[in-house]
Amino acid sequence: MKIAILTSGGDSAGMNAAVRAIVKCGILKGCEMWIVREGYEGLVRGNDDGGEKAGQKVNDEAEKLVEAELREKRNEITQEPDKNLLHNLRFGDGELLRDGTSEYVGGRTLKGRYIVRVGWDDVRGWFSEGGTLIGTARCAAFRTREGRAAAALNLIKEGIDALVVCGGDGSLTGADLFRSEWPSLIQDLHSQKLITSAQLEAHAHLKLVGLVGSIDNDMSMTDMTIGAPTALQRICEAIDNINSTAYSHSRAFVLEVMGRDCGWLALMAGIAGGADFTFIPEKPPTTMPWEDAMCAEIHRHRAVGKRKTIVIVAEGARDRELNPIRAEYIKDILTDRLGLDTRVTTLGHTQRGGRPCALDRILPTLQGVEAVDALLSATPETPTYMIGVQENKITRVPLMDAVKATRAVGQAMNDKEFEKALDLRGPEFME
Ligand code: ATP
Repeated sequence: MKIAILTSGGDSAGMNAAVRAIVKCGILKGCEMWIVREGYEGLVRGNDDGGEKAGQKVNDEAEKLVEAELREKRNEITQEPDKNLLHNLRFGDGELLRDGTSEYVGGRTLKGRYIVRVGWDDVRGWFSEGGTLIGTARCAAFRTREGRAAAALNLIKEGIDALVVCGGDGSLTGADLFRSEWPSLIQDLHSQKLITSAQLEAHAHLKLVGLVGSIDNDMSMTDMTIGAPTALQRICEAIDNINSTAYSHSRAFVLEVMGRDCGWLALMAGIAGGADFTFIPEKPPTTMPWEDAMCAEIHRHRAVGKRKTIVIVAEGARDRELNPIRAEYIKDILTDRLGLDTRVTTLGHTQRGGRPCALDRILPTLQGVEAVDALLSATPETPTYMIGVQENKITRVPLMDAVKATRAVGQAMNDKEFEKALDLRGPEFME
């Protein structure tokens, strides 16, 4: 099987660990592994050489070159295992092959090539790298049938028959559409004589799985998304930093954190960072006017001797009337009513960046292994799976069930049906 991996939508820590795990697990299971740079944009653009594998020639020659040397080394290995040498070898097709056969090295690729074969060494050490080294993008063309037809053609030209998409609900919706449209897309390509009958037959179905990469932890049917634990860690570090200066000057700080319509980051940061008050979209303040409730609570904390005040506000926070609650407004309330020297800190993209925490290495690694297994056992009848985690177990759930449940939460919240939304989101948001 030839498997390609792409990352799409907003970047999140742990995406590299997922790519690494999928590449390594795929190689161990005898698959040929490819990456697609720049998300769906790379899939639509494909390779400048029109699908002729320019890099393959390089690969083949490199393999031939090392073959003789390798035979020698194998003898050495049987006599006296050389740890350094083993470190530089990868297992493929039941054979020990020397790595360095791909043209993708250290995050750089040949210009004009978006779909690139990779080997074991190409992803070495990626578990500790932030962001996504293979690039991500938002791609308008993939939203059109023409764009998806171009993407299908580019995959077929490289002989790729399976795809792993790591991204948010938009990316996964696009992935599901791509897979369900696949038979008619390739029929069209055949009618236009862009692929041969043999290619039509060989690529009758696309195998596809999704992994959820999102710092917001905003996908239903999985307890944790790739990147959310690291973003939470970044926020906690920021709160720790702010705490010391807030304490010194006896100040109040209002921290705005990411999460879009999901309050998970804000809520967990509030617990982990000892916030005095936290605003999240899912549970607007019950006491109205909420300004009174907040001031009373903070006044109570100050009255027992607390020298610092931390208020966390999720970017999607709103009141019961669905009016946004803004950090600057909270600052004005604390300044005017309580006389606190108050500052606003918007953490912004620092929440996205940096090295993944341990969980954002472990989770994508386990999920990457599951993704390869899901592809290897996929049939035309199996649904497109999303790999998730529930109650500490790696799970496969039908991708569109999860996307639909996620959208239902957003819809319910906009309809002010908060209780229903809470039920769908999971136990951590229950009273
Ligand atoms: P994030 O949560 O970080 O925003 P996301 O995956 O939800 O991630 P989107 O911008 O919604 O981000 O989607 C990323 C890309 O996925 C889009 O630019 C587009 O190429 C593709 N995509 C999204 N929705 C669809 C769709 N309905 N049909 C086809 N492609 C889609």
